[in-house]
Amino acid sequence: MPSARSTTLDANTVRRRNLAAVLDLVHRRRGVTRADLTRALGLNRSTIGDLVTVLVDHQWVDERDDQRRAGVGRPSPLVVTRDRWLVAAVNPELDVIDIGLVSLGGDIVERSRTVVDRPTPAEVVAITARVIGDLAARRPEARVLGTGVAVPGLVRREDGCVRLAPRLGWRDEPLGAMLNAQLGMPVEVANDAHLGARAELTFGAGRGAASLLYLNGGASGIGGGIVVDGRAVTGSAGYAGEIGHLSVDPQGERCACGARGCLETVVRRDALAAAVGLEHPDDDTLDAALQAAVAAGSATVQDALREQLGWLAIALRSAVNLLNPEHIVLGGHLAALWRALSADQREAALADALAVSASAARLDVAELGSTRLLIGAAELAWDRLITDPTEVPLDAVRS
Ligand SMILES: [Zn+2]
Repeated sequence: MPSARSTTLDANTVRRRNLAAVLDLVHRRRGVTRADLTRALGLNRSTIGDLVTVLVDHQWVDERDDQRRAGVGRPSPLVVTRDRWLVAAVNPELDVIDIGLVSLGGDIVERSRTVVDRPTPAEVVAITARVIGDLAARRPEARVLGTGVAVPGLVRREDGCVRLAPRLGWRDEPLGAMLNAQLGMPVEVANDAHLGARAELTFGAGRGAASLLYLNGGASGIGGGIVVDGRAVTGSAGYAGEIGHLSVDPQGERCACGARGCLETVVRRDALAAAVGLEHPDDDTLDAALQAAVAAGSATVQDALREQLGWLAIALRSAVNLLNPEHIVLGGHLAALWRALSADQREAALADALAVSASAARLDVAELGSTRLLIGAAELAWDRLITDPTEVPLDAVRS
């Protein structure tokens, strides 16, 4: 028979889990009615009411009348997110450090891009601290409670150590610990493509997909995120999904990883940018320029598209034959490439994969566009905060 003490602990644990479940659903659906919470979580109405009250008291959510249901039976209050608690999201790249403040529900409420040239980890830390301070000053009513970082490299998840980011030239850099010491808040670090996959699965093109292959094209190369049976496939230590280092041309040029002919040596952001005469464009600018060039009948751009698609198709063939994904999502310059292709060219992308493996695979561009990596990085910080919603420094912001 359990002691009184363990019974109390269990009740607290159950309550914390229920609070987390409610807040997680409000977050992922960007607002949900009490009635939908009751249905989705299998809890009774009064329990849901109590849990929502706690979340209102802790300034996570507000309640308002559900306009959509007015006049059709009794309206159920709509539980919506507040912008009181924010997290910071950071994506260091070769040429730009992208930093944002992200609200519950995955909205970037403030954002700043700082142009850099192959920054060192110490430079990333210094710029991140300064920019988060500047962005937070624009939101005096809010407080930043944690930071998530999307790194174009192999990251040891347990401590945020960047084991290898070949194009940044980083090896065994304790970025998570460095940022934590400088920012004085919890910091989580993960691979950028894993986080892009996470963002698209939660809020974007992959919503509801059970199996997803996400390919992220950034200045540092191409990364991959894999979801099987609704779960992220991270590998034994967090390094799975390195589709940019699939061999597509064994006689090809040497890759930053040391091998020859990796996908990312031939499917390149800078090649697409050069074809439209741009240097370091952001994703949206590159996308618009490629489409304009195609519409104008540019032979240079058509040649570049044809070549890049040819190499990409070789990698997709291997990936699709291996994984039989339900959904393939392309982000970054791969999305810009895809959107610039004709229907016939798109048809060719999976033509060489085994027909049975490819037949169910839907290929889309990332719905979250240039916000996907920051939203994914923010998810890392939200994961920890949502686990225990009562652990917020209430007196710090009570006014
Ligand atoms: Zn490589």
